Amino acid sequence: MKTCTHCHKDNPDDFNYCRYCGADLTYVSVNKVKSFWKKIPAWAWIIIIVAAVAGILFALIGSFIAVTTIEGIASIVLLVLGIIGFGVAPLRKPENPGSFTRAIGLSFFALMGATVDQPGNIIYNQPVEICFCDQGTSLNRDENISNPMPGTTIVQQDFTCFDEMGNPVKSINMFAVLGIRFLEYVLLGYLLIAIRSLIWKLRNNT
Ligand SMILES: [Zn+2]
Repeated sequence: MKTCTHCHKDNPDDFNYCRYCGADLTYVSVNKVKSFWKKIPAWAWIIIIVAAVAGILFALIGSFIAVTTIEGIASIVLLVLGIIGFGVAPLRKPENPGSFTRAIGLSFFALMGATVDQPGNIIYNQPVEICFCDQGTSLNRDENISNPMPGTTIVQQDFTCFDEMGNPVKSINMFAVLGIRFLEYVLLGYLLIAIRSLIWKLRNNT
């Protein structure tokens, strides 16, 4: 398809002069992509737009549900972000930003951990069990999902100690879990900073 530069009407590829206004089409390039998109009718665009918006919403809600309910997903995402953010990979030269700036960085990472990674994982939840579940009881994590209003989803984490018979013995305060999670992420941040320095030293000694 050749679109006339003078009257903007479409002509067949092999035309040298516009069949509507007679303008020279010799230097007009053949535009196949444009004509394909132009052929899509408005109703089809509506379907495409609705499908795209629905797809994005579905992916957002799906990943939100996955991060808040499936143990380990948020831990992995935050670990990867931490590895990049603290300069472990790709390896950046260790710097000494000053204790205040370092504290800001570590606090931000730990707050992300406490808010995003509430389900934790089998390793991160060990300290919760050790600190709060009495001897002979074990920790079980679950979540309560409620929809108080359309479009609103509340996911509440539920950490409870169960005895050997499977009876719930003790429900753990979520603030206690978040406190432990915050400390864990501070430690993880320090660990990543230490790993970065170690890798840098090993690489520059050889
Ligand atoms: Zn023309």
